[in-house]
Amino acid sequence: MGPNQRRSTKPFSTGCLEAITKRGDTVTRKGPGYLGLLLIVLVSPPLRAQTRAASSADSRTIAPGVWFFAGDSHKGYCNSIVIEMKTYLILVDPSYPGRTEELVKLIASVSPKPARYVFDTHAHGDHSYANAAWTRRGATTMAFAGVAEEMKLYEPERWQANGMKREDVRATGETNVELPKKLLQGNRFVFRNGSREVDFLHFGWGHTRGDGFVWLPKERVLCTGDAAVNGPRNKFWDADVANWPKTLDQALALPGFPAASSR
Ligand SMILES: [Zn+2]
Repeated sequence: MGPNQRRSTKPFSTGCLEAITKRGDTVTRKGPGYLGLLLIVLVSPPLRAQTRAASSADSRTIAPGVWFFAGDSHKGYCNSIVIEMKTYLILVDPSYPGRTEELVKLIASVSPKPARYVFDTHAHGDHSYANAAWTRRGATTMAFAGVAEEMKLYEPERWQANGMKREDVRATGETNVELPKKLLQGNRFVFRNGSREVDFLHFGWGHTRGDGFVWLPKERVLCTGDAAVNGPRNKFWDADVANWPKTLDQALALPGFPAASSR
């Protein structure tokens, strides 16, 4: 993200991280200029035994029908999650436009179902700038209302600044990021399809005003976007630093989510 934000009084760090936490086992990969997506997974031993590797070395099956696709930090890609429902897929964080074809292939390698919904955890470009690409593929992009508010505030300046630096953004020929088509109001929105329940949760303004979490209560999988990363690396320029810990406290209080002291 370039230094073109209108509100720049708060410090920021050039965060870089991806992590998977499985009851104390943490896998961490670091790279410069990388905004990570932290996936917190609480996997029971039987479930862990059922997991199988996806086709990419940087991909893994988190739970049956839930896949983690690590983004290439050198390209600035965030990590993405795919959740399989009975009749369709949900993609969490589409990243930059250059990531789209990679994700299409990775997704096709694990499921023949269509990616019908694409969720932006927040407005930052490394998580949301491929929105238009997924709309063209027939998906419905979605996010909490605060994501659109933030995009309206900071775009198209950030998009255009990215276009000056990134070929994949410039190649779209577009002049602005596409806002999510479906905006979630309130703090909780639930998808149920077949036996799967997916909760989209907003706990308030943390990393950004529109931070969205994706919670799978049965599998106890939590996708945090950049609201939680496992190290002193993150960007604070859009953050409410005072409120941020309170949002994470709410995440930790999710039913079935062990208290931090027990992990
Ligand atoms: Zn971010």
